[in-house]
Amino acid sequence: MIRPEADTLLEIVDLQARVEDKPILKGVNLTIKAGEIHAVMGRNGSGKSTLSKVLAGHPSYVVTGGRVLYRGANLLDLEPEQRARLGLFLGFQYPVEIPGVSNLEFLRVSTNARRSEKGEEELDTFAFEDLVRERLQVVQMDPAFLERSVNEGFSGGEKKRNEILQMALLDPLVAILDETDSGLDIDALRIVAGGVNHLASPDNATLLITHYQRLLDVITPDYVHVMAGGRILRTGGKELALELEDRGYDWVDQELAVLEVA
Ligand code: ADP
Ligand code: MG
Repeated sequence: MIRPEADTLLEIVDLQARVEDKPILKGVNLTIKAGEIHAVMGRNGSGKSTLSKVLAGHPSYVVTGGRVLYRGANLLDLEPEQRARLGLFLGFQYPVEIPGVSNLEFLRVSTNARRSEKGEEELDTFAFEDLVRERLQVVQMDPAFLERSVNEGFSGGEKKRNEILQMALLDPLVAILDETDSGLDIDALRIVAGGVNHLASPDNATLLITHYQRLLDVITPDYVHVMAGGRILRTGGKELALELEDRGYDWVDQELAVLEVA
């Protein structure tokens, strides 16, 4: 087995993937260590959500090259459920509604699957209710949302809070949040960002996918990556996000055009 440095959580090497015969990821390289917050920015269609879905194991996305190590294991060999149990979390750009499935029960089953993987005892309904009520405060969510079906009829902002609640319960090692800021008003954005900041620790890592600087005003990334044409075109510190805000994406398009001609 290939052993990364001890604190490397995720190592993506030359990752290539297609969807319906269309190549989307064309060689993504990205290494994420414990304690780090990364942001991936890029225009719509640059492949950001595809990257997150490939990492989560979405069946429509076919890996055609490269590799991904998660804590030294070959992530791409694992089933999506295993990835989740092992602490990889994906907050979706468009969280799914699951009519007929109680949000509370859904959260309890997924939390218990993760807990048993960590060697912790599973929680019965009563013990889980205590935990969930405590974690609700992270996202300032009304307990009434627990009694409803998963995300059914939730507003955009409520769905995003529910994702962060799920994250607060699952205690992931690597959390990938795809456009968690989209559709949030400024108050909801602060709450969601506050939750993410609260959950970030020296032991875990966060990958924020966003095309706006505004999320990065409230969550300070250690690294910012600019994605274009299915690759990471440039990596910098938090100032790179400000540069994008300032200059827009035209220069990114120009750099990509040069790369694609070559
Ligand atoms: P981003 O998240 O950066 O906006 P995406 O990863 O969603 O970009 O999309 C990248 C490209 O892949 C786009 O051209 C998009 O149309 C295409 N794509 C993504 N998912 C699918 C799919 N399920 N079927 C067909 N094309 C897709
Ligand atoms: Mg997207």
